[in-house]
Amino acid sequence: MSTTTPTMIARGGAWLVEATEPSSVFTPEKLTEEHRMIGRTTEQFVKNEVLPNLERLEEKDWALARELLRRAASLDLIGVDVPEAYGGVQMDKTATIVLNERMAAAASFAASFGADSNLSVLPLLLFGTEEQKQKYVPRLVAGEIVGAYALSESGSGSDALGAKARAVRQADGSFLLNGEKMWITNGGFADLFIVFAKVDGQQFTAFIVERGFPGVSNGKEEHKMGLHGSSTTPLLLQDAQVPAANVLGEIGKGHKVAFNVLNFGRYKLGAMCSGGAKNAIGEAAKYAAARKQFGQPIANFGAIKFKLGEMTLREYALESLVYRTAGLIDAMLADHDPNDAPAVLAAVEEFAVEASIAKVAGSEALSYVLDENVQIHGGNGFVRDYPAERHYRDARVNRIFEGTNEINRLLIPGMLIRRALKGELPLIPAAKKLMDELMSPSAALPTGGAGLLDEERRVVASFKKVALMVLAAAMQRYGDKLSDEQEVLTAAADIIIDVFGAESALLRALDAQERELANRDLQLDAARAIVSEAGGRIELAARRGLAAMAEGDVLRTQMAALRRLLKLTPVNTVAIRRRLSDEAVARGGYIFG
Ligand SMILES: Cc1cc2nc3c(=O)[nH]c(=O)nc-3n(C[C@H](O)[C@H](O)[C@H](O)COP(=O)(O)OP(=O)(O)OC[C@H]3O[C@@H](n4cnc5c(N)ncnc54)[C@H](O)[C@@H]3O)c2cc1C
Repeated sequence: MSTTTPTMIARGGAWLVEATEPSSVFTPEKLTEEHRMIGRTTEQFVKNEVLPNLERLEEKDWALARELLRRAASLDLIGVDVPEAYGGVQMDKTATIVLNERMAAAASFAASFGADSNLSVLPLLLFGTEEQKQKYVPRLVAGEIVGAYALSESGSGSDALGAKARAVRQADGSFLLNGEKMWITNGGFADLFIVFAKVDGQQFTAFIVERGFPGVSNGKEEHKMGLHGSSTTPLLLQDAQVPAANVLGEIGKGHKVAFNVLNFGRYKLGAMCSGGAKNAIGEAAKYAAARKQFGQPIANFGAIKFKLGEMTLREYALESLVYRTAGLIDAMLADHDPNDAPAVLAAVEEFAVEASIAKVAGSEALSYVLDENVQIHGGNGFVRDYPAERHYRDARVNRIFEGTNEINRLLIPGMLIRRALKGELPLIPAAKKLMDELMSPSAALPTGGAGLLDEERRVVASFKKVALMVLAAAMQRYGDKLSDEQEVLTAAADIIIDVFGAESALLRALDAQERELANRDLQLDAARAIVSEAGGRIELAARRGLAAMAEGDVLRTQMAALRRLLKLTPVNTVAIRRRLSDEAVARGGYIFG
């Protein structure tokens, strides 16, 4: 396996077939003062201006929601990655990660903020004409107008291209739009909608639709499980008159707008989930320290330590992979003009696999953490006096929107295989080399050295081989029918997600050793536990996938290869979780990042 160096620009998915130098990976420990400043500004804004008003937002005071968006804009939060030419402050993608992590504490308001700053501003910036950008982006960035993104319909959510909304071209070149978009965040008060409709029922196209255009209105607020403080309504288009100048991008190329915007949304959502998990670990740790049962704080009980330790481990892996992804995108964009929309698009598309991983890993880690937060709060977790109950409801949708986790799981191996077949990613030669290695019984697999985390490095390299083995077997067995084999693809996705999380945690911990950071021992513990436990899950998913594809001697040979690759001695994760939990309780919250 070759080694990347800090000077090389990594390609998307390359980590699956290459070793990565720890120093080349971006971690939360490497944030600049500028990043930290945007983090502090967001934290203060949420704490002082959003949280005291949460009840009013939950009662659907949309004038207040607008006012808060204006206020966020005045602090440069909406324009954080917008070029100065359009009113923004053009920071890097890592800055948006820091911001979104901190914005997570704002509960429903974070959804309003995301739909406005991400889903509306970005399509305009990336696909708009100069005139469209000048007309709309500075007003959005200043919070004068609020945006929304209208892709889904009642009959087409995951199958977004199956939209029924129609656009019919008029004699003067303008369009009449008809249809009903569903579940539109900010639908009740947005001024501007990025709407997707089919020109003449055929060509899927994006349009910029102002609320003030004739024929545009919104339906009633949905009664949701959570996020009560964000507006979610249908968008009704009844002979809506849209000027020709408001086509966004090319006619028939709406899918490019829709899917690229989601790529951006996915890694930012991963960051928001990471922020939500950190906050909940803080709540759980404080509660566990204060709540006494059987004459002592519940934090003293092993069962509670296990939970706090596990919450910390999942967040450490998530945070590591989210920052790594942002760093990869920033590295690719380092030499580009931020106004160069095609370059920005290409960089984010390059890391679409990592963005999907961030979305799935983030939403699922957060679900676990919030569920255990309720559990640690006991009866108090089930009632509204404590925020644990609201977090639990608010977060459920993260596994549903920005592409459901099922769709993202299918995309992860699908995109990797597509890139391999195009020759953009050397998966196929790596898989062939692996097969030769596994078929030659004399060739000893490398063993870990005696250095810190050397064994874990070897183990993670083996995880990658397992991922390759499953992907190669699937490509060989099903060929171009592979997309019909969702259970196998999902098993491959589970392995790949675990590989990226475990390796990101490991590289971060190694970097902490090299840089002699104060918390390096705790990082070392966390990485060891994450790698150790990922092995069990990876083995299970590989067995499931391989057993679906082969039987008899072939399967037995594969199982023998799997056993060779995954020969791991478990580490004492019970002791590690206890230590992490005790630290979290002592410090009143998440101990890394
Ligand atoms: C609070 C909230 C806010 C939202 N905000 C917006 C917004 O601002 N703009 C917008 O456009 N949309 C928005 N949405 C819509 C959201 O993006 C969709 O709900 C989501 O994409 C899923 O679509 P669906 O609800 O039609 O589910 P479906 O697509 O019907 O999916 C139902 C189930 O089937 C699975 N499934 C579907 N297709 C496949 C397949 N091919 N293979 C395997 N499994 C499959 C799904 O994973 C899911 O588990 C929002 C939704 C909510 C709840």
